[in-house]
Amino acid sequence: MTFYEEIQKKTAPDWPYPVNYGKENEVSADILIIGGGVAGSHAAIQAARRGAKVAMVDKAPIIRSGSGGAGVDHWGAAFTNPCSKVTPEETMARAGDGPFGGPYSFGHLKYITAKESWEALLDMEQMGMKIRDEDDEFKGADFRDEETKLLFAYDYKNKNCLRVQGSDVKVRLYKELKKLGVAFYERIMATRLLSEGGEQGARVIGATGVNIRTGEFYIFKAKATILSTAQPLKVWVFNTELAGAYTAHDDPNLAGDGNAMGWLAGAELSLMERSQESAGPFRYPAYGTGNAHNTWYPCSIVDAKGKEIPWVDKQGNALKTVEDRIRAGGQGPEAASLIRDLSDRIAKGEYSLPFYADLPGMPKDERRAIFGLMVCHEGKTRIPVYETYTQAGFDPDKDMLQANVLPPQLAGQFIPWWDHKSKMASAAQWRDTAFLGGGGLLVDWDMKTSLEGLYAAGAQTAGGGGHAPAAATGRYCGRRAAAYAENATQPVIDRKQVDEAKAHTYAPVGREGQIGWKELQAGLCRIMQDYCGEFKNEDTLNHGLWWLNSIREGEASRTYIRNPHELGRYLEAMMRLTVGEIMMHASLARKASSQFLDFKRMDFPQMDPPEWEKFLTIRKEQGVVKAGELPLKYWLLPPYAPTYEENYKKHSGL
Ligand SMILES: Cc1cc2nc3c(=O)[nH]c(=O)nc-3n(C[C@H](O)[C@H](O)[C@H](O)COP(=O)(O)OP(=O)(O)OC[C@H]3O[C@@H](n4cnc5c(N)ncnc54)[C@H](O)[C@@H]3O)c2cc1C
Repeated sequence: MTFYEEIQKKTAPDWPYPVNYGKENEVSADILIIGGGVAGSHAAIQAARRGAKVAMVDKAPIIRSGSGGAGVDHWGAAFTNPCSKVTPEETMARAGDGPFGGPYSFGHLKYITAKESWEALLDMEQMGMKIRDEDDEFKGADFRDEETKLLFAYDYKNKNCLRVQGSDVKVRLYKELKKLGVAFYERIMATRLLSEGGEQGARVIGATGVNIRTGEFYIFKAKATILSTAQPLKVWVFNTELAGAYTAHDDPNLAGDGNAMGWLAGAELSLMERSQESAGPFRYPAYGTGNAHNTWYPCSIVDAKGKEIPWVDKQGNALKTVEDRIRAGGQGPEAASLIRDLSDRIAKGEYSLPFYADLPGMPKDERRAIFGLMVCHEGKTRIPVYETYTQAGFDPDKDMLQANVLPPQLAGQFIPWWDHKSKMASAAQWRDTAFLGGGGLLVDWDMKTSLEGLYAAGAQTAGGGGHAPAAATGRYCGRRAAAYAENATQPVIDRKQVDEAKAHTYAPVGREGQIGWKELQAGLCRIMQDYCGEFKNEDTLNHGLWWLNSIREGEASRTYIRNPHELGRYLEAMMRLTVGEIMMHASLARKASSQFLDFKRMDFPQMDPPEWEKFLTIRKEQGVVKAGELPLKYWLLPPYAPTYEENYKKHSGL
């Protein structure tokens, strides 16, 4: 027996489910939701409440699937909550339409979020999620509004980011979906979109999928389809053991399937050239060590000798008290932070490692809000951090929590991740999909993609990301898709297209290959690191495309699978391969560097030349890649109305 036979035959674990590769199941619905995470669930609820027959397909069990399945503690952009001092219109008037991506933030999505984030949170309250301090635990705290009992984070003056108790947010959504009769198709990976006449660019009328336990095949027919499979992850780095990596932090099922499926169907994507420096694989798992930012904001940090690290505002002015930090705002580039030259000052001996999060030194309410409310309901913290540490005897009233021990040059752990000048503990070519505001499907004011019948929401859209934006755009998208489906004709499936999807799905079944899916994936990541890393040019990108194609024709056709689970992982690798191709094509199209996009073309080094300040779009038409462009703020230009209010009124369906 050869080495490969040994791996394939002898070491394959016994498979506990009956396997029926190729067996067909047909499902019909008004609305098909692909990806039952935060956005997909809110979309399904809205569509079902409008009487639509909804089918929801997810790779994972919907009760906990997606990045939101692990919980939510910050509910942002709640500009219509009764305490907010900023209106949706005022926030849109601020420069750049939002902090993440500056001018490349998609204003219509930001506005929809600003209008509906609070409404989506009220939906969650109706479903039983705690969004107020009902037990008066924080009575009298600076961040509590006494009348509504709402708790705020970061900016206690303007009050638009709420502290919520959302560790079970997906369980609440799941129960509501069940109550509304949404049909679940769980552990089924959607693999291809189906279109009218089987034509690329035509109306989308459903999808195919494969059950990753039984191997059975699914044909979903729908009048309208919503893609909500979130952003692609593990495109540059595939390693589940490097627990600090951002890619290990999010839901491991996210491979960019919706982007790949949309692309193959002919939908337009944007911002696919955007990526960011990796947060670094050698960090500790997020929130499990002392910190000063995000969930731990605004915790004081002291050095090994008890000397406190000062805080500064955006302009570098010293912030003397904890209250000053809060007044300066704590998320995004406007944020207050620890001194930005901390690394240099450690190197000079001014501060001694290791550092500690000084919870006992914080005002009582702040301390309890950080450890107990935020570190508890924040994703992936309830059991591994809050419960485990507490049971082990950690007491935030008395104990400090040590921060990551890193050499001075890597003390960037304290530098917010959006500060691109910081070099995190990562190789330069290890990149991540941009956090909030990365590439994806382009949607209009109806949240419709460029294809009839195909809608998108959440991190699936270009510029999407974050829990509240996913919930808000999901509920809006669900309404729009339901309205479309009301008048849409019944879909007619093209059998040839189904057969092609089937052939693609089962290609590795029974194959005597020498390559496992993990090796295939690792090889793809190498190509992305080497040819689409921090620095790129026309040659590296063209070489990269050549290599990806070579892997598609070579290694991918020699990859074996031993069960339906491995089939799913192989299909995900193929999705990432397609996503890598889209990223390289998009990177070739942008012939300029951009600070905002963290995009460095060595052959076009000038940063943000004015003629390149525009969105690039990319799609496939009859197999040929077509690049296009859109002006910044195109969502307020014809054919749209010139103001956010008018567009919202016309399109929101309210
Ligand atoms: C640990 C953690 C903590 C976070 N905390 C916060 C927070 O406090 N505040 C905040 O604003 N944001 C937070 N986020 C981010 C937030 O959770 C995400 O932005 C949000 O979940 C995005 O929603 P989504 O619906 O677009 O994607 P997701 O919720 O990730 O859902 C995507 C779904 O698509 C499914 N899927 C993927 N591919 C396929 C396929 N081919 N077929 C079928 N199904 C598929 C997946 O299984 C998944 O269920 C956190 C994220 C993490 C990981």
